[in-house]
Amino acid sequence: MRLLIRNGYVIDPTQGVNTGKNLLIEDGRIVGLSGHGDAVPEECEVFDATGLVVAPGFIDMHVHLREPGHEYKETIASGAASAVAGGFTTVCAMPNTSPVNDNAAVTRFVIEQAERAGLAGVFPIGAITKNSAGTELAEMGEMKDAGIIAVSDDGRPVPTAGMMRRAMEYARGFDLPVIDHCEDKSLARGGVMHEGHWSLVLGMRGMPAAAEEVDAERNCLLAELTGARLHLAHLSTSGAIETVRRAKERGLPVTCEVAPHHWTLTDEAVQNYDTNTKMSPPLRSQDHLDAIITGLSDGTVDAIATDHAPHHADEKALEYDQAPFGIIGLETAVGLAMDRLVSEGLISLERLVELCSTNPARILRLEDRGTLRAGARADLTIIDPELTWTFDASRSKSRSRNTPFDGHTFRGGAIATIVAGRIVHLDPKYSRLVDVRSDHALMS
Ligand SMILES: [Zn+2]
Repeated sequence: MRLLIRNGYVIDPTQGVNTGKNLLIEDGRIVGLSGHGDAVPEECEVFDATGLVVAPGFIDMHVHLREPGHEYKETIASGAASAVAGGFTTVCAMPNTSPVNDNAAVTRFVIEQAERAGLAGVFPIGAITKNSAGTELAEMGEMKDAGIIAVSDDGRPVPTAGMMRRAMEYARGFDLPVIDHCEDKSLARGGVMHEGHWSLVLGMRGMPAAAEEVDAERNCLLAELTGARLHLAHLSTSGAIETVRRAKERGLPVTCEVAPHHWTLTDEAVQNYDTNTKMSPPLRSQDHLDAIITGLSDGTVDAIATDHAPHHADEKALEYDQAPFGIIGLETAVGLAMDRLVSEGLISLERLVELCSTNPARILRLEDRGTLRAGARADLTIIDPELTWTFDASRSKSRSRNTPFDGHTFRGGAIATIVAGRIVHLDPKYSRLVDVRSDHALMS
C-alpha cells in the first residue's frame, strides 16, 4: 500500500528540510521525499497537502491514560483516540495507574491494550519506586525488557535526595532517563494553587514557585553527581527554567518539558473557582508564564507535553480545594501552540516540530520516530496553519471533559494524523483531499 502526500510544506529538523516537497510512504514506512513536479507512482493513494504543513508525527511524552484501574476516566483506547484526534501519533503513559506500573506485568498490559486499540503508539513509563511510594526502587530492568522507555513517579516527587541519587544510579545502569515531577512537599504543604497575589486574594493555600525550584535544582545536582539522564516534567516556574538553562550550559544531560496551560493561562484564571484551572504544578503568575515562553523560544525547553490528566465530571464538581489536580490536553495542545506561539511569531514552525516531535524522540531514543528519513516509521502530523476552529469538549474522544479550553477558538490546528502509513484521523472538512487511486486529475 502506497500513500503519496503531495504538495505539502515539509518540515523535518533531522534532515534540515523546511520546504515544499512530496512524501512517499509504502507499507507503513517512509520511502523518501521528492520535488513537487515529480511523477505520481502507479497505484497510489494521494493526499493533496497544498497549503498544509507535513511534519514527523508528534510525540506527547507525558499523558495519564488511567488504565488499569480508573477506566471511568480514560482507557488506553480512548486516550489513544484522543491523541490522534489532536495530532499526536505517539504518547508516553505515566505509571500512576491502579495498580501502578512498577512491574513487567503492568507494562505488558499497557502495550497489549495499545496494540488492540491500534491508533496512537503508546510507550509505557515505569515507576521509579514500588507503588511510587518513594521508599524502595522498582525493578527497572524487568520493566525495560517489557517495553518501558523511561522511569518516573509522576504525580509524586521522589521524596529525598538520597532516594533520587540511588534511582538515578540504577536507571543509568539500564540507560533509562529519569523523569521527575519537581515538587518539594515540605514547601508545597497541601497547596491548591500558586502562592502569590491571587492565593492571597482568594484565601486559598498556595504552592510557592520555590517548591518546584528547590527540587529542580536538587535533581540537576544529582544528574551531575550520577551522570544519569534527567528529564524534568511540566516545568512551570522561571527559576526552574533558569536551572535547566544553567545545567545545559554546564553540559549536563538534563532536558525539560512544559505544558500548554502553563504558557497560556495564569493564576488569575482561578478567581472563578473553576476546578478546570486546578493542576499540579499550578497555573503561575505572568512573570513565570513569560519565562516559559522565553524558554520555548531560546531552546532551553526541549519538549511540549500535555500532562493529559482525565478526571470524571463528578470529581471536578467538588469544591476547589477538594477537587483533583489536572486537565485533559491532547486535543487542544497543537491548537494552543499554533495559536499562541506560532501565529504570534514567538516560535517558528520548525521549532514547533522540534518541541513536539524531534526532541521527544531524541530524549526517549525512539529511533525511527520524530523523523521523515527514508526507512523510518511513517508517522505524520499534518497541520493547517490557517484553519480557524473551536474546541467542543463534548465531542472530545477522551472519556473526560475537564478542560479550561472548552469553546476556545484557535488559529491553526492538526487536521490529519498518520500512524504507520495509515490515516487514523482526518478532519472531515479535508476528506476531499484524499483520493484512493492515483487520479491524474490531481496532477493538474
Ligand atoms: Zn506531574
